[in-house]
Amino acid sequence: MRFDVLVLGGGTAGCALAARLSESPERSVCLVEAGPDYGLYAGGRWPDDILDARSLAFSHAWETDGEDRSQLRARILGGCSAHNACVVLEGAPSDYDDWGHGWSYDTVRPHLQRAREQLRTRPTTEAELTPWHRAFAEAAPDAILHPVNAVGTLRWNAAFAYLDPARSRPNLTILGDVLADRVRLDGTRATGASTSAGEIEAETVVVTAGAYGSPGILLRGAGASRRRRPLRPRRGRVRVRADGGVPPRDPRVRARASRADGPGHGGDPQQSLPRGRL
Ligand SMILES: Cc1cc2nc3c(=O)[nH]c(=O)nc-3n(C[C@H](O)[C@H](O)[C@H](O)COP(=O)(O)OP(=O)(O)OC[C@H]3O[C@@H](n4cnc5c(N)ncnc54)[C@H](O)[C@@H]3O)c2cc1C
Repeated sequence: MRFDVLVLGGGTAGCALAARLSESPERSVCLVEAGPDYGLYAGGRWPDDILDARSLAFSHAWETDGEDRSQLRARILGGCSAHNACVVLEGAPSDYDDWGHGWSYDTVRPHLQRAREQLRTRPTTEAELTPWHRAFAEAAPDAILHPVNAVGTLRWNAAFAYLDPARSRPNLTILGDVLADRVRLDGTRATGASTSAGEIEAETVVVTAGAYGSPGILLRGAGASRRRRPLRPRRGRVRVRADGGVPPRDPRVRARASRADGPGHGGDPQQSLPRGRL
């Protein structure tokens, strides 16, 4: 199999990306998801707990080491948007303005608006408050009743929001129940991925397997093949800007990573690898 773009992980981000990237009929896109794809919402095959926005859903969770829910992640098309609390909270405009070069509320606002519409975001109504929430709201008059991405009590997950309108596109392939193992490399260039469905070649590889899944795929690929050492926190910086490039000046957003045995670092394996069995 060969595609222009291969998206690994069909969660919240992966569904949005695969749908947006396949808007161009010239571009072939493949979305790989470890969990099941129940198809169109209208097909009626989605499990009840995944559809019910009134409580968190647990039927499609990755296996974890602990039972305290701190590692809870969904393994299903739509990812955590398919089992989460549907709370839609945007930052204050001044926060976006504060992000630095290339970012501002004005540049982000149209994208927030589009996401709001696509996710069918609506206000929470007074009638939906639980007794606890009602007491809290009465005690704190400034408290915000947050919006929700729900149609009535239906959790409107990213698969419904983004993939349903895109599923009929011949240039979009969705592979459910397929586990991505590692990104394949030709030197330093990503050329595809090894998956439980075999090798998939692509011009561009996007890793959207979530906070636990993405590092796992990357560590088994580039990290494992080149050095076989886990990533470790360090004083290096990765800078990002609104268009995904590297800004010339220091923004407020940065991440830190280097090798476990890099200068000045002792080993604490618990910090380097996710504990969930991903
Ligand atoms: C219980 C819970 C409640 C939450 N409530 C809210 C809320 O109310 N409001 C809010 O804004 N946020 C909420 N969040 C957070 C929000 O859901 C996440 O931040 C968001 O879904 C993350 O999106 P993502 O695309 O990065 O990852 P995910 O949505 O987790 O998607 C990752 C996808 O990749 C797949 N995957 C992982 N590894 C592989 C692999 N090796 N091969 C193939 N596929 C793989 C997974 O199965 C998953 O579908 C909640 C999160 C949880 C866990």
